[in-house]
Amino acid sequence: MAGILFIISAPSGSGKSTLVSELRKQVSGVDFAISWTTRSPRGSEENGREYNFTARAEFQRMIDTEVFLEYAEVFGNFYGTARASLDEARAAGHDLLLDIDVQGGAQVRAKMPEAVSIFVLPPNPKVLRTRLRNRSRAEGVVVEAELYRRLSEASKEIENYRQYGYILVNDILDRAVAQLEAIVLAERFYRNGESIAYRSRRVLEVAAACLQMNAQDRLKPVLEAFGIDGSDGSQRQLDFGDDPSQDDPQDDD
Ligand code: ADP
Ligand code: 5GP
Repeated sequence: MAGILFIISAPSGSGKSTLVSELRKQVSGVDFAISWTTRSPRGSEENGREYNFTARAEFQRMIDTEVFLEYAEVFGNFYGTARASLDEARAAGHDLLLDIDVQGGAQVRAKMPEAVSIFVLPPNPKVLRTRLRNRSRAEGVVVEAELYRRLSEASKEIENYRQYGYILVNDILDRAVAQLEAIVLAERFYRNGESIAYRSRRVLEVAAACLQMNAQDRLKPVLEAFGIDGSDGSQRQLDFGDDPSQDDPQDDD
């Protein structure tokens, strides 16, 4: 595609959708691929806005007719990106952003190695739990089993961070949004020679600091909090406990 393909993945509840929606307010020319899913709409979600919601039989038909660039089963439901999203972004001369899980990320990278991949991390398990719970409350449903399922998958998903070029730790929202914006602008600058004007040096520095190879110092405490040993990838028991130092900086729960 003419534009840049961005893949963004994160454990559920890390704030990926929030970051993407903020980015789209700040930066023009980035399309968002609306995925297909067999899960039911949540809260205020509308068909055709957050997702295209569909039945399993129809999703299977779409798999059989090779509608999808990638698809995966996540938390017992199917999710997929239609190839048409790429065609539409290409026709408009826009970049395209895919919010997909780590399985989908691997499929897309295999087909399109030039894609820019970004992994978003919550600062620690306790903050992740609070964000998932707050989101559920805001949507008017708290299903403990679903919360637990998403939390217990988080460490497994985080272990895949090594496959991503950029790492964002979403603690302070404004800072994480600025980092995501810097990554998009820096990639446009390097790949398309697009001007980023007077802010260029700072933007390039912010983006470079988010490259996985430069983000090890910020990554280490997050991996430790999630029980992941950065050296060998092994996992230990998780702590979703009440250590006040792990509170969300923007949360009063
Ligand atoms: P995801 O798309 O990764 O599943 P969401 O974007 O739905 O996650 O965010 C989960 C919850 O966390 C939402 O209630 C959102 O408002 C909140 N949230 C996101 N980022 C932050 C942040 N940096 N600080 C505090 N709360 C956040
Ligand atoms: P949620 O149900 O919270 O909206 O999303 C659950 C997970 O599915 C998230 O990790 C999200 O990134 C992922 N997801 C959403 N759309 C797609 C998609 O089209 N393909 C894949 N592989 N994962 C997706």
